[in-house]
Amino acid sequence: MPQELTLPAQETRIAANGVEWIAVQGWGRMKWLWHGFSTRRGGGSRAYCAEGTLGELNLGLTSADDRSVVTENRRLLAGAITGSAETPLVTLRQVHSNLVVRLSKADVDLRAPRRGDGLMTDEPGLLLAVQTADCIPVLVADTKRHVVAAFHAGWRGTVKRIVETGVGRMRLEYGCRPEDLVAAIGPGIGACCYGVGDEVMSAFESQFAYARELFCEVYDSDPVRIRYPMLFLTQRAPGHSPIGPQLHVDLTEANRRQLVDAGVKAEAIRVVGGCTSCHRDLFFSHRGSQGFTGRMMSVIGIRPHSK
Ligand SMILES: [Zn+2]
Repeated sequence: MPQELTLPAQETRIAANGVEWIAVQGWGRMKWLWHGFSTRRGGGSRAYCAEGTLGELNLGLTSADDRSVVTENRRLLAGAITGSAETPLVTLRQVHSNLVVRLSKADVDLRAPRRGDGLMTDEPGLLLAVQTADCIPVLVADTKRHVVAAFHAGWRGTVKRIVETGVGRMRLEYGCRPEDLVAAIGPGIGACCYGVGDEVMSAFESQFAYARELFCEVYDSDPVRIRYPMLFLTQRAPGHSPIGPQLHVDLTEANRRQLVDAGVKAEAIRVVGGCTSCHRDLFFSHRGSQGFTGRMMSVIGIRPHSK
């Protein structure tokens, strides 16, 4: 299993309001499309950063952060992506399901997010958002019909085929053809850092013929330890090393496989961002921060007057 730690080449952009976000290479050519993956950089949150450092772009209404700060951060993200902080940013109450919500402007009620893990629309002027801090965000766009969708895939949602189901719903509701779709898999925890229990492998094996290909055994899950083993040797009691093996799962690959199985062309799928846990200076990582962390957003929408 490759050790991540180096970031993939990607288009990082810093907006005038200070928000640093990641664009998908080549997607800028689609002038009708808004899209982006946020990082933790920019914004005014103090909840998860060290004293004396700049504020951060926490976009989740977490208990440790101030609601008004998060609301302002969301406006900053909308401003960075669409040029207007007033663009409605639609979120979900994410429940690790395969529920996909078809969204119209008429049912945008920002006070009561709907339950589910996928959002899709063909109406311009809305920014669909999924929140993550290790889970895998997936954005999909129909280049012909101008339909967009955003999905949230943790291991449970991946087992429930949220992305495969989501593409199916795009076909059913909007007549999308898989060969017209482009997709981007955003920053999430990598196979390098995502150690899981046997129950996760059992769940995948019950659903996917290729499940075994998504897992590997790792004898020491910490990439820093693998790079600098001498630093850690003395911390282990005699007879208790090496640790492991532990199962690691590749959720990025799992979701890429679902896109391909749904008919999206392999060459139309981009993987951007990299491992959230390896790059905690750039991303929030739930696992990497022992659960005390903010949330990023992956957003997609149709620019008004583009249809
Ligand atoms: Zn990693």
